[in-house]
Parts: sequence; C-alpha cells; structure tokens
Amino acid sequence: MNHRYFENLLLSDQPLPNDQKHSLRDHLAVCESCAQLSYALSQVEQEFRAAPQVGPAAGFVERWQSRVESQQSTLQRRQAIAMLAINLAAASALLVWGINLLLPSLGSPVDLVSQFLDGFIDAFTSIKLAFGLSAPLLRNLPNLVPLSWWISLCSSFLGLLIVWANMLKQYVFEQGVLS
Ligand SMILES: [Zn+2]
Repeated sequence: MNHRYFENLLLSDQPLPNDQKHSLRDHLAVCESCAQLSYALSQVEQEFRAAPQVGPAAGFVERWQSRVESQQSTLQRRQAIAMLAINLAAASALLVWGINLLLPSLGSPVDLVSQFLDGFIDAFTSIKLAFGLSAPLLRNLPNLVPLSWWISLCSSFLGLLIVWANMLKQYVFEQGVLS
C-alpha cells in the first residue's frame, strides 16, 4: 500500500477532489497507521479551534510607538553628541593652531603663559609707545595693508564663525543635548 500518497492527502491544506476523497476514505478504513494519523490531525485541528485567539496585550501599539520614539531620540542624541564632539575637536584644533601661529616657540604651559603675558605687556607697551610717538605711522597703517585684504580676511573669519555657531546651535540647542 502507498501510505505516503495518503499521508500527503491527509496533510494537504487544499480541499481534495472527490475521487481522492473516496480513495482516502477507503484507505483509512483498512489502514490503521493512516487512520491514526488522520485522527491525530483532527485532534490538533480541534485544539487550534478551541484555543482562544492569542493577540498582543493591550496598549501594544502605544508601547511600540513610544519605544520607537525613544530609540529615535537616543539616536538623535548620540548624533548630536558626536557633532558636538567634532565641533569641540575642531575648535580645539583651531585654538591650538592659532596659539602655534601666534607663539612659534612653545615651551611648557608655564612658559606659554609667561610668554603670553610678556607678549601682552610688550604689545601693550608698544601700543602705548606707538600712540605716543607714532601717530603718523598709525594713521598710515591701513594703507600699509590693502583694504581688500582686511575685508576678505574679516569676512571669511566671520563666515566661519557663523557656520560654526549655526552648527552648534542646531545640534546642541534644537536637539536638546543640554536640556
Ligand atoms: Zn496507510
């Protein structure tokens, strides 16, 4: 007997044509193992029908939405912190670069501070001297450096400052890193 064929008929989830239905019924009448399989299948089907419909617990959609939202805000927070770190690193690099540019011979931090103070005092003294003694030179200073240089230097520095401030504002305040 071809049990395999009848097992396939039993397990089929499609309605059987009449001739297959009849041959299956005939086979189940004489074959104990296929009859047992058929009985077991019908029991399982009954269990499924009797079992209450299992659905998600109440408030599932709300919980899911709030979880997605909190994941999104965590992601935004991380991005904002990363942007802040990048900005701070860039600002620090600029600061270090500027200090290096202004004070070419860097020693220890103490030397740095004393050099800065010395330079500041020197500059102050020089400016005082210049005001006192070199008023004609000061009057001519704008002429020594072309005006277009000053304008382009100032405007590019201002532009950088505005871009940087906007990025900080956008990522720090609008996305709530500090709130
Ligand atoms: Zn059989």
